[in-house]
Amino acid sequence: MTTPAIIWDVDGTLVDTAEHHFSAWKRFAEEIGQPFTRADFAATFGMRNPEILRKLFEPGADEALCAKWGEQKENHYRKSVRDEGTQLLPGVARLLKEFAERGWPQAVGSSAPLGNLDLLLSVTNTRRYFGAVITGDDVSRGKPDPEVFLTAAAKLGATPIRCVVFEDAVAGVEAAKAGGMKCVAVTFVKHHPAGKLRAAGADVVVASLGEITVEQVAALVG
Ligand SMILES: [Mg+2]
Repeated sequence: MTTPAIIWDVDGTLVDTAEHHFSAWKRFAEEIGQPFTRADFAATFGMRNPEILRKLFEPGADEALCAKWGEQKENHYRKSVRDEGTQLLPGVARLLKEFAERGWPQAVGSSAPLGNLDLLLSVTNTRRYFGAVITGDDVSRGKPDPEVFLTAAAKLGATPIRCVVFEDAVAGVEAAKAGGMKCVAVTFVKHHPAGKLRAAGADVVVASLGEITVEQVAALVG
């Protein structure tokens, strides 16, 4: 049986940071005098900051403005995570440990910037599990482009057909499938319904990662 390599999305899969992001975007939008609604949040969830900024606030924003605004928003976000903390979602701690015990390489493949991931991996004490951490800063194209997952696989020395991606978002599932990988989708944080994740090509959809066993994951690439 082929040994799987595991690639984790972070926001909504490893941890639920949505409220931290929502309040950070809202605070940022207030600072530039623009509205930011729950619908705006839902419509841009999982996208990279430059894409969100151009879609919602300033279509012609250049890279410098996107970097400045993105940093402004992320500062609010990191303050929120530091002040209020965050916990691993159900099933995650067990899976991280069981994959590690079997010697399966694990990576993070996230659209989030490096500063955020550093903070989250530190707050949740999970850094030791990951042989590679690929961030939004490491790629030029966000999900649904497969670049972030293909980069993670390459760093782990894994071929895409060995990789199982854990995701919660439609764009992330599409990215995994576009990369030729298997995908386990979880609806726990309820940003994306099971039907849409399935339609995007998820191989398995569960309400909680507490339902997933290592044997199921192994069977996906076996
Ligand atoms: Mg996510």
